Amino acid sequence: MLVKDSLDEMKKREASLRAIKLIVSKKGRNSLYDLTGLSGGFLATSDDLNLLETYIGPAIFEEELQKLGKEHLGGEKVFAVNRTSSGILATILSLGEKDKNIIHFLPEFPSHPSIPRSCNLIGANYLEFDNINDFIDDFSDNVSLVIITGSTMDHEILDEKHFKKVIDLAKNNNVPVFVDDASGARLRTAIYSQKKATELGADLVVTSTDKLMMGPRGGLMAGKSDLIDIIKSKAHQFGLEAQPSSVLAMVKGLEAYDEENLKKSLDKKDKLMVLLEKHYSMFEETPTGVMVSQGSLKKEITFNNNSNKRGEIMDDFSSKDLCFLWAMILLKYEDIVTIPAVSMPGASPTIRFDLAANDVQKLDICLLFEKINNSFKTLLKIINNENLAKEVLFV
Ligand SMILES: *Cc1c(COP(=O)(O)O)cnc(C)c1O
Repeated sequence: MLVKDSLDEMKKREASLRAIKLIVSKKGRNSLYDLTGLSGGFLATSDDLNLLETYIGPAIFEEELQKLGKEHLGGEKVFAVNRTSSGILATILSLGEKDKNIIHFLPEFPSHPSIPRSCNLIGANYLEFDNINDFIDDFSDNVSLVIITGSTMDHEILDEKHFKKVIDLAKNNNVPVFVDDASGARLRTAIYSQKKATELGADLVVTSTDKLMMGPRGGLMAGKSDLIDIIKSKAHQFGLEAQPSSVLAMVKGLEAYDEENLKKSLDKKDKLMVLLEKHYSMFEETPTGVMVSQGSLKKEITFNNNSNKRGEIMDDFSSKDLCFLWAMILLKYEDIVTIPAVSMPGASPTIRFDLAANDVQKLDICLLFEKINNSFKTLLKIINNENLAKEVLFV
């Protein structure tokens, strides 16, 4: 294994940030294509920034955040947190209990690591299910919190019928329901015409303000006022709340959000998929783009259509390593940023090309196909050369 632990993942991230800086300083921001679907956007005018320097600004932005946040997520009250993970931690610290169950339902494993990690921190028993019957069978009277993931890190979407079933069961047992709708708050509603989590009966929801919208890395929570107040006071004790600069950027990101832009990515996805399917069998469609999972990538390399191997992988390269390697090649040789290159430790290694990303507007789909194709050929040359692979990952 090349990337063995969180420390290696951090080193890989440092290398990718250096590569990004190099590309931008040599060729300019316009030649870099961020297809992560995470924008890290900071839309603000100089008037906004002047206001930010005083105590007046935060008061104004807070009021606007309440209005726009409630339009976006529903609920009675909104609270901005530093990251979605911070909202998850604050909620579990507030509503979870030691030795009681926290039970999580999601459309497909794996869950975001912040959920089990936060449960572990308070000594709660953490259970997770992706099968509705198992979830129902294992529900007991010892549950302090139900968590639902509306759309996973890999953009697998929860069926609305299952959503309702889980919420009904929790309600009948007087257990609060918290929805991790990091990308789901927009994907589920804009692409799949599903209802907002709060409209489906959830007590609390958190969304990520840089997923499929032009906001900053941050989390936006909404839900019942009394629960939000409890979580808010807990979050302040540990510094989990968003700072005024993020709140300003969240307000601007919410103002700029238009679900029609998300829907437009669908045509581009179809066009790209036609090109890719002629040459590869590893690509799957996501709601707004295409992806390759670690398993499919390994399979594509070891068997091709005529069941001939495309390449020889070194024994100690894991399938996760292959994803990280490909992501770093995409970045260093093709100027394309995907999540596994820049992700925080523990995030999904799936390579995703998000066609709802802003930078896709300046990228021709045929050129994107060429870049994907070239990077895959480069990958095949590196998977049997440990020194070269380490250099691509960590230097
Ligand atoms: C992205 C994501 C998170 C975490 O968001 P951060 O901003 O990294 O804290 C949590 N859950 C899901 C399902 C996600 O997709």
